[in-house]
Formats: sequence, structure tokens, C-alpha cells
Amino acid sequence: MKVHELFGVLDSIAPFKDSEDWDNTGLLVGDMQSEVTGVLTTLDCSMETVEEARQNDINVVVAHHPLIFPKTSSVTEAGTGAIIRSLIKNDINLIAMHTNLDHQPRGVSHMIAERLGFHDTEVLIRHEASYKKLRVNIPAEDRGQLKSDLAKAGVGRQGDYTDCFFEYPVKGQFRPGGDANPHIGARGELENVDEYIVEAIYDPAIENHVVEALVESHPYEEPAFDILSIHKPSEKGLGVLFDYEGTMDDLVSLIEEKTGLSVVNTVRGSDKPIRRVAVIGGSGMSYINGAFARGADVLLTGDVKYHEAYDAKLAGRNIIDTGHYMEHVMAEGLKILIEEQLDIRVKATQSSTNPFS
Ligand code: ZN
Ligand code: ZN
Repeated sequence: MKVHELFGVLDSIAPFKDSEDWDNTGLLVGDMQSEVTGVLTTLDCSMETVEEARQNDINVVVAHHPLIFPKTSSVTEAGTGAIIRSLIKNDINLIAMHTNLDHQPRGVSHMIAERLGFHDTEVLIRHEASYKKLRVNIPAEDRGQLKSDLAKAGVGRQGDYTDCFFEYPVKGQFRPGGDANPHIGARGELENVDEYIVEAIYDPAIENHVVEALVESHPYEEPAFDILSIHKPSEKGLGVLFDYEGTMDDLVSLIEEKTGLSVVNTVRGSDKPIRRVAVIGGSGMSYINGAFARGADVLLTGDVKYHEAYDAKLAGRNIIDTGHYMEHVMAEGLKILIEEQLDIRVKATQSSTNPFS
């Protein structure tokens, strides 16, 4: 199997196009055409990670955090440069799956919940999916061809379905001008036609292609069409929510027991029993309002700052700062997702990249 084939499978697990604009995901170091000898999953790619890959004869590292971020202006034996040089010298490929993996229903936050023993989660802060809807008038006899041409251009795809169109009959009228070259009717005469309206949705990213295909296929010189923007909640989003029965102390003990990490900081804004737990792996405090708006009794996240903790306490909110390194459970979680689809050797890293001790 070549790296690009593995990449296709990773893209089906967490589409790279779901990454935030500021992020840096994808193949960061390496060659899509090289043959995969094995995969090492890890939160960060450190010198120890490269060494672990080399010793296990593995030539693809899949890391959550991008090694090259936000930009690298030199690649020398200092800092990040030394790791990049080591990857290249050992012919090891590096793929980053960062915010694209955070935003999947089975992404990093779900993996954290699973590690704690909670498999049944829902997405905490759902994204809005944007679509465009095309609505076009077409003479009745031309609508079959138009639908077929639009479907080829990518219109009418919804989930696992293609060729999803609506149509309904309407009456249209027009009067061709002196210089017109009408498909139906004659210059200067009012013409009434039996038309259909054909409707379908498409991905905004292919808009230019769709309009080209429409103009190309439509028999009229000046086709009448509208493009509408629609938004609906997506299946994807940030963080997860799960049901729980217990106290803050129970939850803290469970985290320590299941992860081996010690929980240093908790914010106890309320002593009500905990029934709904929100998890945002990494740094989730900027999403705190969204998390509590979903009815969470506590938020598990990392990188909680003093003033954020202070405000949460005042607001009567419970926070458990699990540390950003809690995301390291993605190494095992991603290994399982890859092995569900591929019969290749995948190893979750044994190296700790936690900068805190
Ligand atoms: Zn993350
Ligand atoms: Zn992170």
C-alpha cells in the first residue's frame, strides 16, 4: 500500500477538508508515492517518536498536532527543524490529522470519553453545514437531460445518495426581443410555455462548475435560475456529551484511574450531582458557553487559565482541567479506526510527549 492510499483511508475517517482554515493538516513531510511499512499514531511528533518509528521499521507517523505550525522558516538542527531533518534522513512520512479529527463524531473528544468507559456520546457543539440550492426553470421536455448533466457536475448529492432532485410544473412566459435567437417562439411575440422548476442542493465549493454545467445544458439563451443559501446542523462538531451518574470527586477519580494522569485543577462552581458530562479535548475554554448551553454539569478540557477558572466559578460552573495531554488517547483511538479499515501494522506510540512532569 502506498502513502496516498493510506491517506485516502485517513480522509474517510476524518476528511482533511474539515480542518480549520488556520490549521496545517495533511502530509507535512514525505512522499505520497512511497510504500507504507507501518503506521505509528501519536499526539505529537518528537525526536523520540521518530526514533520509535525507526526502531519498529515504521515509515508513516500520523500525529494529531502539526509539527510544522504556524510556519517554519528554517530547517536546521534546532528545535522543530531537527525533527523534520530526522524524518527526512530516515525516510519517514509525517501526516497531521488535527482539527479535522477534533471535529468528527468519533474524533478525539469521543476517544477520551471511550477511554473513561463511555461509548455512547453525542456531538457537543454541532457545526452548521452550508449548502446551496439551485432552482431552475426548464421546458418540460428538456428536464431529464438537465438533471442528468447537473448530477454529473455534482448537484443533488446528499449523504450516500446521488441524483436527488425535486421538480414541479409551472407556466412560464416571455417575449423574445428583436435581436434574440429563441429556442421556442418568435421575435416580438408573447410566448407561453409549459415549464418545470427543477431543484437540488450542492456543495458551495463547486458553484462555478455547477453554473457552467447549467448554462451549457440549458436550451435557453438566458436561463432563469436562483441560487439560495441554506444552513442545517451537521452531524459533525466539536466535543462530546455523555450521561453520567456521580459526583465531581467520582469523576476525578475515574479520570485518574483510567488515564494514569493526575488531575491537578478542578473548578467547583456547583455541588449538584453530575448527570451530563461535556468533553472538549485540548483547549476548550473558548467554547465553554456552548458546552453549558447543552445542559452539561461539568466540562472536561485542558489549558484552563486562572481568569477563565475564576469566571467559571462565579458562574456556578464545574470544570475539570484534565490537561491538554489528555488528547494522547487519540493514539490508541486512531489506531482502532485505521485497523477497522485496513489490514496493516498500526502501533500507538509508547513515547510520552507530555512536556509537563
Ligand atoms: Zn485536538
Ligand atoms: Zn491539542
